[in-house]
Amino acid sequence: MKLGVIGTGYVGLVVGACFAESGNDVICVDVDEKKVRQLRRGIVPIYEPGLEELVRKNLKEKRLTFTTRLKDAVDEASVIFLALPTPANEDGSADLRYVLDVAAKIGKLMRKPRIIVTKSTVPVGTAEKIREVIRRETDIEFDVVANPEFLKQGAAVADFMSPDRVIVGTRNPESARIMHELYKPFMRTSDRFMLMDERSAELSKYAANALLATKISFMNEIANLCERVGADVDQVRRGLGADPRIGAQFLFPGVGFGGSCFPKDIKALTKTSHEVGYEFRILKAVEEVNQQQKIRLVEKAQAYFGSLRGKKFAVWGLSFKPRTDDLREAPSLAIIHELVKRGANVTAHDPVAIKNAKELLGRMVTFFDNYYDALKGADGLFLVTEWNDFRHPDFDRMKTLMRTPVIFDGRNIYEPELLKQHGFTYFGIGR
Ligand code: NAD
Repeated sequence: MKLGVIGTGYVGLVVGACFAESGNDVICVDVDEKKVRQLRRGIVPIYEPGLEELVRKNLKEKRLTFTTRLKDAVDEASVIFLALPTPANEDGSADLRYVLDVAAKIGKLMRKPRIIVTKSTVPVGTAEKIREVIRRETDIEFDVVANPEFLKQGAAVADFMSPDRVIVGTRNPESARIMHELYKPFMRTSDRFMLMDERSAELSKYAANALLATKISFMNEIANLCERVGADVDQVRRGLGADPRIGAQFLFPGVGFGGSCFPKDIKALTKTSHEVGYEFRILKAVEEVNQQQKIRLVEKAQAYFGSLRGKKFAVWGLSFKPRTDDLREAPSLAIIHELVKRGANVTAHDPVAIKNAKELLGRMVTFFDNYYDALKGADGLFLVTEWNDFRHPDFDRMKTLMRTPVIFDGRNIYEPELLKQHGFTYFGIGR
């Protein structure tokens, strides 16, 4: 099939490369000329495991092409995926500007029937809005399908290639058939294709992200309670997760959630509820808990040192989670801003996100390519993102490098007892 993917970010590039890998001809469109130039040469400007190999292979096979011209995709592709940003507006609602602008342009350019598919996370009712916008521009037949994306950054290619479920919202049987054909290669052992109406498909994505974020804030509250009652959240977590109705995944307390999705999607769902006169109370609490949790480690440091003025702290891990270079809403940013605000100096290391971090933090932080170097003369270490690189460091070496051996472990990756034996003062979350 000939496909178009509009927007080649974390989602669009994976979608384009994976559909090309399953034998389709895919035209990827982006307004960012520099990105398109790089992609044409097989250079993937983001860090996502396995993606660059896939892009290069399919470029070579000529199944994957990159352009800044939307017209090329609209002329050639019968199915056009929109993988455009839907950031939060100031009032929390999802900004549909990118999606609706491109929809209108597609309407103007369309010369043959097309299926337009939303991959972006969009509020309930967006498929209808897109339909209206396109209808204003053309009399040619088209359909709009809601197909939210559930991939996880850091494992995006694997997730797309082997999805838990593929949710497709459409009432048009022919569109449903085509979407099923497209996804079949990724569901060979069992069919996880779920057909539903557009509104339910759109809401499914928000419901999933909201529940995952709720799990995180819930565990952070349990962790905060553990500290006050003398329980160990790691043991509580194991006890909880053994119940199959609860499940063991996503029960890790930490420094709060970040990323480009959970924070904005929670805001957008709250706003959607508000607009229909429903107050989604849990979501408000989930967000509040998360805001506080992001700086809990800094408060622990403040309580321990008295004042943070003039102190030097090293931060290990900057991306919002391991295996990505994405810093959008990363807890590390809140922690660093708070440390600096309280008068501390900050050094930092991340295996892949330093370039992006420099753009956001500039001279607020001294960056090091080696994580041990960041520790020189530090009064404490903040472990913020649990990259595997940090799991088994040389504690004795760390101790000799630091001025005072104190660790604030934002992901509970170290054993408190072991660190004590090495002469460290240890602070975790909920233990
Ligand atoms: P992103 O910012 O990484 O990528 C968006 C891309 O769209 C950028 O390359 C940008 O240059 C391009 N773009 C902007 N305007 C354009 C235009 N008019 N024409 C062509 N290209 C244009 O965003 P992302 O993380 O890929 O997210 C895209 C959507 O997918 C969002 O709605 C997001 O909520 C959703 N989503 C994201 C994830 C994730 O893990 N990142 C997962 C599931 C769903």
